[in-house]
Amino acid sequence: MNIPLSSPYMGEEEIKAVTDVLKTPNLSMGPKIDEFEKKFSDYIGTKYAVGVNSGTSGLHILIRALGIKDNDEVITTPFSFIASSNCMLYERAKPVFVDVDKKTLNIDPCLINEAITKKTKAILPVHAFGQPCDMKPIMEIAEEYNLKVIEDSCEAIGSEYLGKKAGTFGDAAVFAFYPNKQITTGEGGMIVTNDEKIYKLARSLRNQGRSEDMGWLDHKILGYNYRMDEMSAALGIVQLKKIEKIIEMRNNVAQEYNKRLKDVAGVEIPYVDEKTTKMSWFVYVIHINKKKTQEENREFRNKLITDLSDRGISSKPYFTPIHLQPFYREMGFKEGDFPVTEWAGDTGLALPFYTGMKSVEIEYVCNNLKDLINI
Ligand SMILES: *Cc1c(COP(=O)(O)O)cnc(C)c1O
Repeated sequence: MNIPLSSPYMGEEEIKAVTDVLKTPNLSMGPKIDEFEKKFSDYIGTKYAVGVNSGTSGLHILIRALGIKDNDEVITTPFSFIASSNCMLYERAKPVFVDVDKKTLNIDPCLINEAITKKTKAILPVHAFGQPCDMKPIMEIAEEYNLKVIEDSCEAIGSEYLGKKAGTFGDAAVFAFYPNKQITTGEGGMIVTNDEKIYKLARSLRNQGRSEDMGWLDHKILGYNYRMDEMSAALGIVQLKKIEKIIEMRNNVAQEYNKRLKDVAGVEIPYVDEKTTKMSWFVYVIHINKKKTQEENREFRNKLITDLSDRGISSKPYFTPIHLQPFYREMGFKEGDFPVTEWAGDTGLALPFYTGMKSVEIEYVCNNLKDLINI
């Protein structure tokens, strides 16, 4: 067997939707993007949505739209995909990291207060692996200190915190549609907000700084080409239609993994908090707890990755902490700065996980994992 880490969930309907667009002259800025945005904002429950060509561009646009600039500080976590901090660096603002909660792996609200300075402009919580952050205390702190909140919801489409969807708590949020995400458009992302000002700015920034009523060659502000094309939007419309089924199928895969792995010594299965009233699984990450020290567990985890690969099973550390990436180290970050993040980075192992994953595949992964962990 050859089992990939992730795999998009595609059908004939998706193929038809994309080829139908190719038969029209509208390959960009046509009717599909408007339709996808309308359906997406309806699904999330926000007033507005703005389609972009990646989650990363969506995050960058929000940093610009909220006026975050040189030397401003934004509080976030280093346990994330690198884009959630890079978006601040693009504008010469400073990511101020705080550590995560050991169970949820999301920003620990108790650590936010002490990270606030006069320069703090915003909080950027990341809903890691699909689990929403503890948004109630985060929004309370934001209100008290008058901070903006950008939710990185790229991994959490459809997840709910205390009955409310991820992406509806802050000033704005970003979703992403890279092929390993719950739904995909190839490359793609979506900004959502209830704020008309952010909405209008985001539309302008993705489209070379043009305002709606200006001509093609009139540019009011410095913008980018962050537009989503019509083929991607058409694909997104079909994928979004299946979102509830996709979330359910992924949940079934996660539950089967849980059942097979919950009693395996040396394996910690993912934790889902009781405030997570709906979990939209992005990845399935276990933690290796077989050896005495974190260092030994990391080496053991790394060897597991190689051994699983020899048996046709892809797996990966998830995440590698942002603050330990080479160019972040150059900014002065180092080992020991964020112990919980580093523990999660050293011991985390993402197993193959995708919407159409079959029982026999899950069984094959689990049997081999059990085999190897007992060597
Ligand atoms: C996927 C992802 C993004 C955006 O990624 P793109 O590849 O640019 O679409 C941002 N933040 C997190 C946490 C992600 O998982």
